[in-house]
Amino acid sequence: MSDCLFCRIVSGQIPAKKVHEDALCIGFLDINPQAPQHALFIPRRHVATMNEATPEDRELLGHLMVSAAKYAREQGISDTGYRLVMNTNSAAGQTVFHVHLHLLGGRQLTWPPG
Ligand code: AMP
Ligand code: ZN
Repeated sequence: MSDCLFCRIVSGQIPAKKVHEDALCIGFLDINPQAPQHALFIPRRHVATMNEATPEDRELLGHLMVSAAKYAREQGISDTGYRLVMNTNSAAGQTVFHVHLHLLGGRQLTWPPG
């Protein structure tokens, strides 16, 4: 989608600090980090929110999680811990409508989240 910020990052029209790239997804650093480690993992294909996800997207969505976990291992935060979270629509604070998995780590995270 040409008017989608994250589709533009996928196509390279907007720069991002990429930390992961493969056939299905990319990972890049969040521009406004909420933790010492804050990366986003997104499918190359545009899916607006989890509300649009179908059973056919199972592999794609699982792949985001496995890719993020690999990056967490590479960053040395697997043992201390990290959080993977996906916000859906306004009540959860979603601001970019292209599915993205947040990886947050490198500090003690509180629960419940705000
Ligand atoms: P959400 O609020 O769950 O929709 O998260 C959107 C995230 O995208 C926020 O954490 C933003 O800081 C991040 N973000 C917005 N624009 C960019 C960008 N150009 N590059 C990297 N991260 C971005
Ligand atoms: Zn998009």
